[in-house]
Amino acid sequence: MNKDLYSVLGVNEKAAPEELKKAYRKLAKKYHPDANPGDTGAEERFKEISEAYDILGNAEKKSQYDLMRKGGGGSFHFDGTGAGGGSPFGSGGLDDILRSMFGGGGFEFGNRGGFGQRAASRPTVVISVPFRTAALGGDVRTDLSVPVTCPVCLGAGGSGEKICSQCGGAGRIQQGQMVLPCPSCGGQGKTYTNICERCAGTGEVTSSESVKITIPPGSDNGTVLRLVTPSHKHVLVKLRIMSDRFLRREGRDIHCTVKITAPQAVLGTKLKIRTIEGKILLNIHPGTQPETILRIPGKGVLYRGTKGDQLVHVDVELPPSVSAEEKALWEKLAESGRRKA
Ligand SMILES: [Zn+2]
Ligand SMILES: [Zn+2]
Repeated sequence: MNKDLYSVLGVNEKAAPEELKKAYRKLAKKYHPDANPGDTGAEERFKEISEAYDILGNAEKKSQYDLMRKGGGGSFHFDGTGAGGGSPFGSGGLDDILRSMFGGGGFEFGNRGGFGQRAASRPTVVISVPFRTAALGGDVRTDLSVPVTCPVCLGAGGSGEKICSQCGGAGRIQQGQMVLPCPSCGGQGKTYTNICERCAGTGEVTSSESVKITIPPGSDNGTVLRLVTPSHKHVLVKLRIMSDRFLRREGRDIHCTVKITAPQAVLGTKLKIRTIEGKILLNIHPGTQPETILRIPGKGVLYRGTKGDQLVHVDVELPPSVSAEEKALWEKLAESGRRKA
């Protein structure tokens, strides 16, 4: 069952809030169970109308729905077979659907069955974020492709408006027992003599928009942010965190590996270590053993009020080959070791 919420209410997708409210009131009155006792068809229809208005009557939910409606290719599936069964609007409306589509926190697309796969096919843009920016938070500038009103037809989709011949302007057609949105006019009730060539009748074209995205500190791979562009388009932005050559992140902690020579391990040394907040001097104590992990407190990622540490894995490298001079020195070491033993 493909239901377009606008055609459920029998309105144009550009209908103003008052118009939506009026359409909803009229239909709700007509199909209200009190006015149609025992009529299950009317009851179903009443439910459908209420669900549609629950979304379209709420500015935020409406803009999310509009975005997904475009991304999903014009049809939205509310049959509940994929997103957990039952009425997907039963508990919390579109927010819940978005959540179930995108997963809880990990955000792997398309793992929730048919519903998710379909509607999630293109609801987000993916942007790359430098490792350090994701850890510390910061701004990323990028160009996004966003739908804007067609400059040629100014959103109308064409010129020479005429009543749709298939549905006679109703926007809906009767097929057996079912009422469906008219396939000719897409539920609009009207078509154009001249379809706009620039936007192919959709009333919208894509345009590149420069946006500044504020990345919260501690952002992870797959984090999805909601963004409103300067032209007021709502976009979901999925983050892809770029890896760092030296630093790796595990939760709040940052890990890195340093290699020291055998003499450095035995005699101790100072090493310049890169952290997300800049370089620091790390003291390697005399007698440091291989596979030692040194903790630099407070140099991890701040997430929900708690800051992690940086963990330095110390690797002791032994020379794979030695010069004649070095060999003599190692032999001396070996000898002194034998004397001690
Ligand atoms: Zn156009
Ligand atoms: Zn029509």
